[in-house]
Amino acid sequence: MTVNHTANPAINTACPYCGVGCGVIATQQPDGSVSIKGDPEHPANFGRLCSKGSALAETIGLEDRLLYPEIEGRRAGWDTALNLVAQEFAAAIAEHGPDSVAFYVSGQLLTEDYYVANKLMKGFIGSANIDTNSRLCMASSVAGHRRAFGSDTVPGTYEDLELADLVVLTGSNLAWCHPVLYQRLAAAKENRPGMEVVLIDPRRTMTADIADLHLAIEPDGDVALFAGLLRYIAENGVVQGDYVEKHTTGFEQALAVAEHLTIEEVAVSTGLQPHELETFYRLFIDRERTVTVYSQGVNQSAFGTDKVNAILNCHLATGRIGQPGMGPFSVTGQPNAMGGREVGGLANMLAAHMDLENGLHRNSVQRFWRAPRMAEKPGLKAVDMFKAVADGRIKALWIMATNPADSLPDADAVEAALKTCPLVVVSDITAETDTLRHAHVKLPSTGWGEKDGTVTNSERRISRQRAFLPPPGEARPDWWQIVEVARRMGFAQAFAYADTAEIFREHAALSALENDGTRDFDISAYAGVDARAYANLQPFQWPAPITTNPLGPSAKLSEESTSRFFANGNFYTPDRRARFIPVSPQARRVTDGDYPMILNTGRVRDHWHTMTRTAKSARLSGHMAEPYVEIHPHDAARLRIREAELVRVSSGHGAVLVRALVTSRQRPGSVFVPMHWTDQFSARGRVDALVPPVTDSLSGQPASKNVAVRLTRFEAEYYGFAVCASRPATDRLDYWALARSKGGWRLELADGRPLDAPEALLRRLLSLAPSGVEIIAYHDTRQGSHRMAAFNGERLLGALYLSRTPVVASRGFAVEQLSQPHSDPRSRNRVIAGRAGADRPDPGAVVCSCFGVGANQIAGAVRAGCTSLAAVGKTLKAGTNCGSCRAEIKGLIDAYRLEAAAE
Ligand code: SF4
Repeated sequence: MTVNHTANPAINTACPYCGVGCGVIATQQPDGSVSIKGDPEHPANFGRLCSKGSALAETIGLEDRLLYPEIEGRRAGWDTALNLVAQEFAAAIAEHGPDSVAFYVSGQLLTEDYYVANKLMKGFIGSANIDTNSRLCMASSVAGHRRAFGSDTVPGTYEDLELADLVVLTGSNLAWCHPVLYQRLAAAKENRPGMEVVLIDPRRTMTADIADLHLAIEPDGDVALFAGLLRYIAENGVVQGDYVEKHTTGFEQALAVAEHLTIEEVAVSTGLQPHELETFYRLFIDRERTVTVYSQGVNQSAFGTDKVNAILNCHLATGRIGQPGMGPFSVTGQPNAMGGREVGGLANMLAAHMDLENGLHRNSVQRFWRAPRMAEKPGLKAVDMFKAVADGRIKALWIMATNPADSLPDADAVEAALKTCPLVVVSDITAETDTLRHAHVKLPSTGWGEKDGTVTNSERRISRQRAFLPPPGEARPDWWQIVEVARRMGFAQAFAYADTAEIFREHAALSALENDGTRDFDISAYAGVDARAYANLQPFQWPAPITTNPLGPSAKLSEESTSRFFANGNFYTPDRRARFIPVSPQARRVTDGDYPMILNTGRVRDHWHTMTRTAKSARLSGHMAEPYVEIHPHDAARLRIREAELVRVSSGHGAVLVRALVTSRQRPGSVFVPMHWTDQFSARGRVDALVPPVTDSLSGQPASKNVAVRLTRFEAEYYGFAVCASRPATDRLDYWALARSKGGWRLELADGRPLDAPEALLRRLLSLAPSGVEIIAYHDTRQGSHRMAAFNGERLLGALYLSRTPVVASRGFAVEQLSQPHSDPRSRNRVIAGRAGADRPDPGAVVCSCFGVGANQIAGAVRAGCTSLAAVGKTLKAGTNCGSCRAEIKGLIDAYRLEAAAE
C-alpha cells in the first residue's frame, strides 16, 4: 500500500465518518472527478465500504462551502481574522482570567488538529476549557474504562467479533451506525452458523436481522441486566477465580450489591421476560469466547458510566478480556473520537492518556511543552460549557468542526447562548449551518480530501488521512488556524510547526515521556518518523513503544504481540489490578402525565451528524428524505395518528414536527426520532431541542436516549410533495423537509392553514417570474387535490402535488422528470399524474442506495420467488455493492414471504 504520486494518483486515505475507520482509495480521474473504493489492504475493512463511504465522491463538491474568512458577515483576510481572534481571546483572558475562554472541538478533527488545540488551551492559555462533541458519543466509556482499568483502554480488536462464539450487541445499531463492522460480523456468522448474536435494544433495529435473540429492554435497564448477569455468573460457578484473584480487586463488593438481582427482579427492572433473561444469561456463561459490543445506547445515559462498568464487571469476572474472541468492546461514533482521547481533548483529561488531576502528570507535560501556564483543574464539559456561555462566564468561544446549535441537548438554549456570547469564532467547511449563523468570525477549514493527518479508529488503529485535492478558495487546515492564533498570542516558539508530520512526532514523543509501561498509550516507535515515513505511514495499532520496533520507526509492528490488552492483567491502576465497580440500578422515572412517552434519538443509515456533507449526495438523501418518528401501532391507534401523517413531538424543552412511521419495531410507549435534521433541511426537525441537559454525573455525557415527550397529531389542512430544479423557497410553511435529488431537490410540505391559491404556492416555491413560464395544472377542488408543473420550454422547473391527506405520488418518478426533456403533451401529462405508465411500476422508497432499488421492486422480486438475499441480489443487484442495505432487504424478504404465504 503506497502513495503513488503520478499524474493520476491513487491515494490511500481513511473514511471521515464513523469509528470503524475504513481505508479508502481515492483516485482523481482525468475529467477531474474522483473515484472511491475500499482499500483491500486496510485491516479495518479489507476493501469493504458502506453506503456513506461509497458515496464520498458525491460530497466533495464546492457548493455550500465556506471559502473565505469573514468577520461580522463580511469577507476578511486571514491576517485580519486571526489577529482579531488572538486579540479578543487575549483580552478576555487578561480581563476575566483563562477560564473565561473555551474551545468546543470535534471528533471530526484530525489528531494533529486536536493536539495543538489541546496544547494551546491546557498549556498556554492555562485553562482546561476545551471539550469536544465526542462528549456526546463515548465519554461514559472513557469514564468506565478509567474506573475499572485505570486507563481509557479498548482492550480488543475487530477480529474478536469474528472469532467469538457469542457477540452481545447492547445499545448498538451496528447495521446502520458501524455498517462495515456489521458486515464483518454478518459474514463471520454466515461462515460459522454456531456463532450466536444477542441484540439488546429497546428497538428492533436493522441489526436485529442477524440476532438469534433480541431483548427489547426498557430504556436504561442495562445496569440491572448486567449486574444481574454478574450474580448469575457467580451463582452458576463460572467466575474465573484465578483471574479475579490475581488481577482484580473489589469482586465481593460488586457481587454484594448485585445479590438481590434475581432473574425475577431483573425482569421487573428491564421489562424483559424471565425466560428471555434465562436464555441470555445461559448463553453468556456457556460461551467462553464472548464479545460485548456497546456504543451510544449505553453511553448516552444518566447512568452511562455505571452501565459500562456493569458490562466490564462481567468480563472481568469471567476473565474474558484481551484474548482472541473475548472482551468488552466500545465502538465510537466518530472517525477520530479515539484520537481526541489520545491527545486529551476532553476537558477532564491531559495529553497522551495522562491525568489532568495528577500533579506528576501535569508537571511532566508542562516540562515537555515548556508550558508557561498549565491548567490545574478539569475544565467545563460540553453541556456545562454552553451553560457557562449562557450565563456570561465564557466571553470568547471557538467552535471547530461541529454544530452544537443542533447536536447538543437543549439545542434551543444552546442557540440562545450563542447569540449572547461576546465572541463566537467558528471554523467549518460549510457556509450555512445553524451554529455558523451566530459566528462573529468564520474561518474556512479544509475538508476531507483536502487535509492531512491521522485518525484512530475504535480498535486503536491509527491511519493516515491524506489530501488528494487542493484547498479550495482560502480554506486552511484547522491545525494551521490554531497555530497561527497561538503565535499571535505570543507562543510562537512552542507552536512553530511547519506541517502535521512535526505535530505527529511531538505527539508520539510525548506518549513515551516518563511512561515506562505505566500508561497504555505509547506510540514512541513513531516519534522519529521523518516527512517521507509520515507520508507513507501504514495503519498501525497502538501500543507501539519504541522497544517493540527494532526495525525502525516506519517498520510494521508485530500485531500478535501488541493488539490486545489485559489477558494477563497488568492494568494501569497503581496496584496493576482491575477494579470491580459495585453498581446497582437506580430509579429514574422521566415520564409523567404531561409527557408520558419515551423518546430515543439516534442515527439513520445514510446520513451523518447534521448532514453538512451527506445531504450533498442525492443517493444518500434518497434513503430517508425527511425527519420522522417511529411509533408503535398501538400508540399510533390510541393517538389517532395514521401512517405518513405529521406528528408534533414535544418535551419540556422544545418541539419537532416530523412524519409518522408506524412500526412494530418500536416498543409500545417509546418513540424514535433521528438526530440529523437541522433548520437547513427541515422546518422543525432539530430533535436535540427536545433533549434536556441531563448528564451522567461522572462522564458528563447527556442522556439522549430516555427523554419524556408527548405526541400530538398535526392537523394539516393540506399535504404536498414537490420536485424543484433549484432550491425552493420554503418560508411560510408549517412543515417542510428538503432533500437533494438527481437534477434538483425534492420537498415534502404541509400546512395547518387552508390552501387558497395552489398555483400561487407553486410560484412561490419555485420563485417563478410572472411570465415566460408555462404552468400545466389539474385541480379537483372538491377533493382538495391539485397537481401542477411548471415548464420552461422542454425543461421541467418543478412539479407540485397537493392533497388533503399525505400525497400519493411516485417520488422516484417525479424526481426523474427533472432530468428528462418534456416536449410532448403525454410526457407532461405523466408529470401531472405523478407516476409512470402501467409498464413502469413505482419502484418505491429507496432501499439500496448504490443501485437505486426501491422497496416495491424488492417486494415484487420476493413475490416472484426470490426468497434469499442472494436471489434478490441476482435479480435486482440490490445489496451486492456496499451491503449496507442487506438488513433492510432481509426484513422485506421476511415480510413479503409471510404475506405471500398467507395469500
Ligand atoms: Fe466510513 Fe462506512 Fe467504514 Fe464507517 S463503516 S468508516 S461510514 S465506510
